[in-house]
Amino acid sequence: MGPAVYLDYNATTPVDPRVLEKMLPFFSDYYGNPSSEGHSYGWAASAAVEAARRQVAEALGARPANVTFTSGASEGINTAIKGIARAYAGKGRHIITVKTEHQASLRSCRTLEAEGFRVTYLPVDGDGLIDLDELESALTGETILVNVMWANNETGVIHPVSEIAARVRDRGILFMTDATQAVGKFPVTVAEVDVLVCSGHKLYGPKGVGVLYLRERVRVPALVDGGGQEHGMRGGTLNVPGIVGLGEAVEVACSHCGSEADRLSQLRDNLEQRLAEALPAIRFNGKRAPRLPNTSNTTFPGDACEYLLMGSLGELAISPGSACASGRSGASHVLSAMGIPPNEARRSARISLGRPTTEADTDRAAEIIIGAVRALTAT
Ligand code: PLP
Repeated sequence: MGPAVYLDYNATTPVDPRVLEKMLPFFSDYYGNPSSEGHSYGWAASAAVEAARRQVAEALGARPANVTFTSGASEGINTAIKGIARAYAGKGRHIITVKTEHQASLRSCRTLEAEGFRVTYLPVDGDGLIDLDELESALTGETILVNVMWANNETGVIHPVSEIAARVRDRGILFMTDATQAVGKFPVTVAEVDVLVCSGHKLYGPKGVGVLYLRERVRVPALVDGGGQEHGMRGGTLNVPGIVGLGEAVEVACSHCGSEADRLSQLRDNLEQRLAEALPAIRFNGKRAPRLPNTSNTTFPGDACEYLLMGSLGELAISPGSACASGRSGASHVLSAMGIPPNEARRSARISLGRPTTEADTDRAAEIIIGAVRALTAT
């Protein structure tokens, strides 16, 4: 048996060879600390970090000065949500977010609730979308931040960021988006947001490095205090190879995202069609909403889901939803928020395609899934 068909690219992606090539010299040859301002080793590292910052800024339509490198999206989200709350508490103590956000957002909000902030968790409809009028009605004179993810990691459902921004920002309220699953999958810019986060390992860059974009007027204290790196935004010696890789990964991903999106959505749609023809009881969650081109959140009939999620004897790598909630005991909070009953949510998995995915992979995945469902539902 060959390696498992990997269809878990929303969990993480392999490092693109172009990215790896750019990173390698920064482990062994240019290993200086960018904070070493007195010699050429430090200068080389610092120049590479600033070049990566420009790559990210260019790809996202941002100013380089507004790009901070972090250890990943979770850190960016924590820094922004907690930082904004604490810095703007004098203006108001109300935050709005959505029930289907990543746990990094939800748990940051829970921490703030324990500190006396009020958080509104907006519901979503059966397609995973918020009601914009409901969002607008939830805004109060006390609201300091609205945080809505751009694309959902479990279902791929895409929120209408421009329309949300238009309703929020005119009132002087900050608008933040977690674009971790969006950057590189469709065109993303910071034009209409105040805060944006993303992560290297979701876009064929390395793990342990991410971006926090903050518009000029947004004041946020550092979450990690240290030697004043990143203009005091984040202490700690910079992860130079990671940052170099992230810069290259963002540039590559953003320059090819149009053609890659078409290819992936065709593969995904064909896979769904084939599964639906063979297994009429199968369901695809969020399918009626605008969705990421690579993602299919699938509810399997019968008892096949657990078997498929356990790696189907090493043949297929898919996941229950959020890789970051591994070992989950209950049903997905995203599917639950969409009104999917727990017994169906527990029979659901996320299939996510990526740059290396071929038609042969999706054909094989269809065979494995259809075979497992038929075998495990046969009476
Ligand atoms: N936000 C979303 C939407 C994600 O999918 C993930 C990762 O699964 C994260 C945040 C956390 O990213 P990181 O692993 O870089 O901390």
